Formats: sequence, structure tokens, C-alpha cells
Amino acid sequence: MPREVAFQRCIDPACAATFGIREILNKCPKCGALVDVAYDENKLRLPKKLSGLGVAPKELKGLAATSGVWRFHQLLPFAPAGKVVSIGEGRTILAAGAPAAEYAGMKPGRLFLQYEGLNPSGSFKDNGMAGAFTHARMVGAKMACCASTGNTSASLAAFAAATGLMKAAVFVGSGKIAIGKLSQALDYGALTYEIEGDFDDAMRRVVEVSADLGLYLVNSLNPFRLEGQKTIMYRVLEGLGWQVPDWIVCPAGNLGNTSAFGKAFEELYQLGLIKRKPRIASINSTGADSFSVWWNDGRMRWNDHKFDRALVDRRYAKLDSRELKTNTIASAIEINRPVNLAKGLRALAWTDGLVRAVPDEAILDAKAVVGLCGYGCEPASAASVAGAKFLVEEGVIGRDERVVCIITGHHLKAPDVTVGYHSYTGEKFHHKFGEFGIRAAKLPNVPVRLPNDRAAIVAELRRASGR
Ligand SMILES: *Cc1c(COP(=O)(O)O)cnc(C)c1O
Ligand SMILES: [Zn+2]
Repeated sequence: MPREVAFQRCIDPACAATFGIREILNKCPKCGALVDVAYDENKLRLPKKLSGLGVAPKELKGLAATSGVWRFHQLLPFAPAGKVVSIGEGRTILAAGAPAAEYAGMKPGRLFLQYEGLNPSGSFKDNGMAGAFTHARMVGAKMACCASTGNTSASLAAFAAATGLMKAAVFVGSGKIAIGKLSQALDYGALTYEIEGDFDDAMRRVVEVSADLGLYLVNSLNPFRLEGQKTIMYRVLEGLGWQVPDWIVCPAGNLGNTSAFGKAFEELYQLGLIKRKPRIASINSTGADSFSVWWNDGRMRWNDHKFDRALVDRRYAKLDSRELKTNTIASAIEINRPVNLAKGLRALAWTDGLVRAVPDEAILDAKAVVGLCGYGCEPASAASVAGAKFLVEEGVIGRDERVVCIITGHHLKAPDVTVGYHSYTGEKFHHKFGEFGIRAAKLPNVPVRLPNDRAAIVAELRRASGR
């Protein structure tokens, strides 16, 4: 049988089994490793130069013709261009973010924010969902499901409602979901299940249940999600006039972004469209820092898929016994068992990347700075800016290197956190998820209480504006 342009392949080089593009695989049936979507280079229809990318093919229909994912169809042609699914995702921007550059200690104009909050459901997840939904339709799925800290479920629910192609069932950890995200799943009409426990618990169950019932799983184990997420990097390159930055800094949860970004650059490099790759910095919260602990303390590396699994087992045992707890205000990265660990390690090997962890305090201050740039974000997203600052202070990122921080989700996802932070007046910062020991919010914008009195208001404004 002549091989199609796209197929699936086990990521373990020792196995490298290949499978058809229409199979539904969350892992390799032969060895259990993750699988990639792969392409036959000779069958790709590519421009000669990088700057020729991003021009939507004529076959795209409806919203897909406007999609920031599908206009890069040339680099993810696993479905015919006329058959892709879109709700208008990926129309996002690369913003200058001068306050963030200054905050991170970078020279002016050297730090950028890739603002994915502009997606229809308000997070970068829509990029990947366009890929997964397209595959789900290819295989005739009737119902899709996911476990989620909130944004995957919001995205799945939005795609299901907006396209009417299938039903959605979402599993979230009880009490562990930001209010904006829960409101979306409910509003878009998804079947919504709160599983006792945290994300990792919900994740384990949804894998079992989807297998029991033959539901289409759209978690980032799903390789088609990662294909959609590659396009975030193409848009970054486009935003930089097709120049390759020095660093991509992104929050690290299940390592879907880390994996997808690494794959995007490795493929462009192998295809000869770029001459060098940026380094990827993957940023955990210290409240859920498995990846950082493995990478930095355990020296875990990709090592052609022979990474140190004993480290993983030891940590999972501690998590199982509750000796080790997961707790961060950055709920989207409150993940201690990253499902894409192997691909994440591979991405960092491909890009000479690294991992760091930043505390909640640093995340919340960085979040306030992203707000000051005019592009607010949810807590997890700000881990990128907090991580960039940390790496500049460490001397790992040079002040005049070019850095792109991925701002993964919109600030209205968790407005309670924002209001809590800006109401900080010297006492501890409280939040319904717990007390996060924020000793000092550095950039609170405390609302000022005034009497209902014209003269008093004028006096206060005069004082504040120096007039
Ligand atoms: C899902 C999510 C993350 C984590 O991304 P991974 O690709 O799983 O590492 C980070 N930020 C936001 C806002 C998210 O929704
Ligand atoms: Zn295999």
C-alpha cells in the first residue's frame, strides 16, 4: 500500500512502529510509548522559503479559511484541507509587552508576548482542539471526552457546540477548576463531571472510561492536538518577520506545548526552512514541579526514550501516599504527572532546552505585569514571564537575546484571583483554593474607597494625578 502523506509513529526509536492516520491511538499498541503524527517529507507541498508559509490554501472552507491553525495546513496535512474543522481559532498576536520586558530585566524590545487569550474559548487549547476535532470527524466519533484543569474542557465544549459534530463529556477535579472555565463548559452545554480528587485523578479515570465506552479522547496524549499547537510557533515566527527567536518560554503542565513547540522547530529544521532552533524553557510552578525536579535534581534526559523511569515511579509513589502534595494557584499547571513527559524531554533535547520552577508569588506578580501590558492572563500563563525573569537573573538568558513568552490563557478565566491580588492590603492573600502564603503582592492596584461626594472625589483625583 503506498504510504499516505501522513501516518502515525511510535516515538521510541527502538520501536518506531508506524500506523495509519485513521487509527485512534493514545499510545503505541506494540510498546506503550506515545505516538506522533509524522509526514512523508517527499509528499509535503512546501514553499521554498519560510516566509512563504501561512498563506491559507484555497481549499479551506468557511471559518477554516480564517483559522490561524489551518492556514499552515502545509505543515500539518493529516486531513485534506477541505475537511478540516475550525471555530476560528488561532487568530492571535505577538505583542511587544514593554512592561514585561522591563520587569524581566530584558533590554527594551527584546521580550514579546504571544497572546493566545484571543482564541474563541480564551486559551491556546483551541489550536490543538482544531486538530483533534478534525481527526475525530475523520474517524466518525460521536462523543469526545477529556480530563481537564479547565481550559481543555472549555475548548472541547466550545468545539462541540459551535460545530454540532459531536457531544462533549468533560471530567474535572472537584473544586479544582477556575470559575471562568467551569462556566464555559456549563454554558456550552457539555456533560460535566466533577471527579473527587485532582486533575491527575480525573485524567486516569477518563483514560479508562474512554476505553470502556469507545469515546474519542482529546487530552494532549492525543497526537493530533499537538499538531494544531505547532502553529503557535509558526505565528511567533511570522510575528517576528520570520526570524527565529533565541528563547521560547512557556508554562509547563502536561507538556503539550513544550512537546508541540519542539516538534514544530525540529520539523522546520529538518525540512531546511530554518537554520537554527530557539531554546525552549519549560516553566513549572513550585507547587507542581515534578518536571523540574526530574530535570534539575534527577538529571533526567530524553536519552532516546531511555529516560530514568525509576525517578518517575518514586515520585508517583510519594504522590500516591500523599507524602507529596500538589498545590498552586496556577491551576492550569497544577499537574504533577505530565502525560507528555517523554515528548517533553525529547523537545528539550532537540532545542537544548531546560526546566525551571517558579513560586506562586512570582507568578502572581508576573501576572500583574502582563496585565500592565494590556493583555491580561490567567495565573498559569504568567509562569512564562516569571520564568523569563528568573532565567535572566540566573544569567541563563542574556538581556539582549530575543525572548518570546507564551501567554496561554485569558485573564477572565480566573478573575477572582486577579481581584484578590489587587485587593491585597498587607494581610495574607486568600483564595478559595487555599492560602498561598503571598507575603507581599508587589504590584497591587488597590481600589480606592471614596464617599459619594463631589468635592472628596475631586480632591482624591487631584492628589492622584498631581493636578
Ligand atoms: C493547559 C494549560 C497550560 C499547560 O499546558 P501544557 O501544554 O499542558 O503544558 C498552561 N496554561 C494554560 C492557560 C493552560 O490552559
Ligand atoms: Zn512502540
